[in-house]
Amino acid sequence: MKTTLLGYPRIGNKRELKKACEAFWSDKIDETTLLKTANDIKTQNWLQQQALGIDLIPSNDFSFYDQILDACLTFGCIPKRYKTIDSNNFLELYFAMARGLQKDNIDVTAMEMTKWFDTNYHYIVPEFEKNQSFTFFSKKIIEEYKEALKLGIKTKPVLIGPVTFLLLGKEKESGFNRLDLLDNLLPVYFEILSELTRLDAEYIQFDEPCLALNLSEKERQDITSTYNQIHHKFPDLKIYLANYFDCYGENLETVLQLPVDTLHLDLVRCPLQLDDILESKNFNPNTKLALGLVDGRNIWKNNFEASLKIIEKASKKVSFENLWISASCSLLHTPYDLDLEINLQPEIKQWLAFAKQKLEEITTLKNLASPENESYLSLFEENKLANINRQRSKLIHNENVKERIANLKESDSLRKNAFSVRQTKQKNALNLPLYPTTTIGSFPQTKEVRSWRLKYKKGLLSQEAYDFLIAKEIEDSIRFQEEIGLDVLVHGEFERNDMVEYFGEKLNGFAFSDFGWVQSYGSRCVKPPILFGDVSRDKPMTVKWSEYAQSLTDIPVKGMLTGPVTILQWSFVRNDQPRATTCNQIALAIRDEVIDLENKGLKVIQIDEPAIREGLPLRKEDWNEYLNWAVKAFRISASGVQDDTQIHTHMCYSEFNDIISNIADMDADVITIETSRSEMELLDAFVNFKYPNEIGPGVYDIHSPRVPSLEEIEQLLLKAKNVLPKAHIWVNPDCGLKTRDWPETKSALKNLVKAAKKLRAQELTLV
Ligand code: GLN
Ligand code: ZN
Repeated sequence: MKTTLLGYPRIGNKRELKKACEAFWSDKIDETTLLKTANDIKTQNWLQQQALGIDLIPSNDFSFYDQILDACLTFGCIPKRYKTIDSNNFLELYFAMARGLQKDNIDVTAMEMTKWFDTNYHYIVPEFEKNQSFTFFSKKIIEEYKEALKLGIKTKPVLIGPVTFLLLGKEKESGFNRLDLLDNLLPVYFEILSELTRLDAEYIQFDEPCLALNLSEKERQDITSTYNQIHHKFPDLKIYLANYFDCYGENLETVLQLPVDTLHLDLVRCPLQLDDILESKNFNPNTKLALGLVDGRNIWKNNFEASLKIIEKASKKVSFENLWISASCSLLHTPYDLDLEINLQPEIKQWLAFAKQKLEEITTLKNLASPENESYLSLFEENKLANINRQRSKLIHNENVKERIANLKESDSLRKNAFSVRQTKQKNALNLPLYPTTTIGSFPQTKEVRSWRLKYKKGLLSQEAYDFLIAKEIEDSIRFQEEIGLDVLVHGEFERNDMVEYFGEKLNGFAFSDFGWVQSYGSRCVKPPILFGDVSRDKPMTVKWSEYAQSLTDIPVKGMLTGPVTILQWSFVRNDQPRATTCNQIALAIRDEVIDLENKGLKVIQIDEPAIREGLPLRKEDWNEYLNWAVKAFRISASGVQDDTQIHTHMCYSEFNDIISNIADMDADVITIETSRSEMELLDAFVNFKYPNEIGPGVYDIHSPRVPSLEEIEQLLLKAKNVLPKAHIWVNPDCGLKTRDWPETKSALKNLVKAAKKLRAQELTLV
């Protein structure tokens, strides 16, 4: 029995990569310094895995921005618009594809980005053309392999599998299917594998997480043919095939017949598949099984007792030598090291394991499963005690909350009247023009704003001094918004670190780490709260600043909340009760906040649910169950108000096609969505469905520092106007502006308001 991993976090223990990238982008450090940071992180990761007993260590799991962007460059899959960039300047090209570039006479937009399966990680979407050709362009996979070799570590290079790579991308013109490109793409894989085998590589890991989805027969055939070809050409290379986030499902029998050395199983998300495999007549006991027992998506300690039972079951059919112990998926989705957390309550800390601790768990499980290793028994006992303590802890259980959940009624999730009735009442109450303009909530979180919060947290700034600064910032932002003529204002969220953490800190049932960062996209990291117990709200969480902002102006200000599904989805959630129950607990707390805001005079309240789509199970047969409870939780949070209070919701980076009717069921009066990077493509779902309520398709891509011109915004609005009822259209950016700087934000928002006014004026001349 041996241990292995699919991938390790790459941002650095203390987010060194984030800091280095951002410094590089703003010309504060040079390329050499950036590369050195990257090398330090890779080296540290490899040596740590080696020290903690991982037998087969991955390489090419590092990335400056995203592994799918890396793959695009590996395969020379570079969209034409980047041809103006000197391809010898690799990092400039790479980051231009990731973030767009405005420099000298170059002005290119970024590639589209979307969520990685059901995670909050975002990948860059490959773009394909008909008859696209591929070349082995970036040699990163080879270089990383060599770097590790220099340290004496023979790694298992990781590469996205060809079928998943194509499926993750998009056809940029019509008349072909991206899987048609497989024959063009495979030769590049062969080239890579030749080079790796020349370097004596023993293993290659192909990630094919598309195997967790409902594939068509044709797609399954493509999988079969791909791996047969690879094996045929490289009979001695051991293929480690990785699927994660769900079962192999109906793809299992196909997969079992592939000529691969190892099949990786996510036994956290799908423990039952092990039985299916062991019982299948297609299962060849010489195929190695990698048991993904340690949860790569969450931070709870493994339950050794349960894991050992699974290992025992597997070892009845598969010999010890043919079993790997591993994590369910790449540890990319977990924070680095629990040892750094000196402020976590010890009782809670003993329930947890971050990436480094998970390495230890994997090794310990291997040792516990091997009979001769009795010295590990104390670790087993320790693990058992920690798990029992967690089950019984007083920190977790709150009887009042459990009672409120038990007493929930159907009417708690219904507004008083239908949208048509509410719309009229809201029109009268709010008196908004046609094409009302608004923003999504946050304004730039400048260095100063962040430094105040830090000083306040450290006790270096008094409550009064801090409040004074925040109040001033809010006032400035309100004046700015009035000046440029926005119709529904926001207070700017300057007091918030993160849209989930902020609420978690004010609610009971959450704990916080100091360094528990995970990558979200590019250099952006999030620090998910640890939702360990029953959730309740002691007092209002946002009323003070929203009420203050509204007191400064006669124009409506939007109250700004994060929705229950997003709080759930972006936290490390307890795994000891159904997610639906936890979600309802959060929903009740948000509902109380919504009612408080209404009572204080906020006529518009936004409940953000950017994560609702990503929570969708990967397999369609599981969708309904999730959507039912998720939509209901949102409605519980939103339905305590009067008809004339306008509820907004916001979502970003989602493909809405499949779930549009459920989005409509959420019954928000207004929804704002991300659409600009896809040139309004994401709007199609709403149009085809005849989405009944009001909608603000984003017309400004806030993920890029580019300032959209008045004409660009106007073009996007015209597209929207052609397909949506005029009276339903809002004008707004794609998402919150907290990652932007003020100068670009101001220019962009001025253009946005001008575009809306121009459109309004055209209506008037038409009449
Ligand atoms: N209101 C939040 C903001 O503006 C929404 C962020 C999000 O959708 N991710 O920052
Ligand atoms: Zn957003």
